[in-house]
Amino acid sequence: MRLRARIPPVEPAVMLPPAICPYDNCQGQFFKDHQLHCKRPLRDTTIDHVVVYRRRCLSCGRTHRVYPHGVSRAQQSDRLKGHTVLLYTLGISYRGVEDFLATFGHRVDHTTVYRNVQAAGEAARQLRQTWLHHIRGKVAVVGSDLTYVRSNGEQVAVAVAVDGADGMMLDIELLDNQETETLKGWLEPLLKLVGAEVLSSDDQDGFKAVADAAGVSHQICRRHVTRND
Ligand SMILES: [Zn+2]
Repeated sequence: MRLRARIPPVEPAVMLPPAICPYDNCQGQFFKDHQLHCKRPLRDTTIDHVVVYRRRCLSCGRTHRVYPHGVSRAQQSDRLKGHTVLLYTLGISYRGVEDFLATFGHRVDHTTVYRNVQAAGEAARQLRQTWLHHIRGKVAVVGSDLTYVRSNGEQVAVAVAVDGADGMMLDIELLDNQETETLKGWLEPLLKLVGAEVLSSDDQDGFKAVADAAGVSHQICRRHVTRND
């Protein structure tokens, strides 16, 4: 397998004004320049700021910013975002990506890396798993763990899967609930993908059911997951 990455470029001179007013309840197509040449700091691999402008929608009267190609409302450029997702795809942990980019003077904290990967969607995570599978052969023992965190007053389950041999992160996922079916929907394809023989987890019933469904043996281990995120 060979990974080929297409990292989005940043082109400060190419402005991309939206054709239709970006506000939800407006279809305005006519605008008037409101404020030109606003310098905005940017986190990027090459440049440290871009020039954006504001324009006013003639239908609703609200203003919005117009950004150059490769730049959005986010503090980071699409290019820097692309680098974080690529590094993650190559098997580097969230904190590892943060540390690596820091050596080049680019500050992106690991939660931003995590969010970028989530935004890149399923494809990035699949690619990472396939890549890990490819470069490392088979992952014989997969350790998995569910922890609960509060988010906006609601409890969410954070599911983690690691390579049992070295604690290397295989996947991390926020699950809607802790039902066996939900757990299975996430973990079973992963076990198959990496060719696991053993699932190692605590003794929650769900894990045993997933192991059975995936045709791997189940090993109970209370502290198998070495945090590597
Ligand atoms: Zn409008």
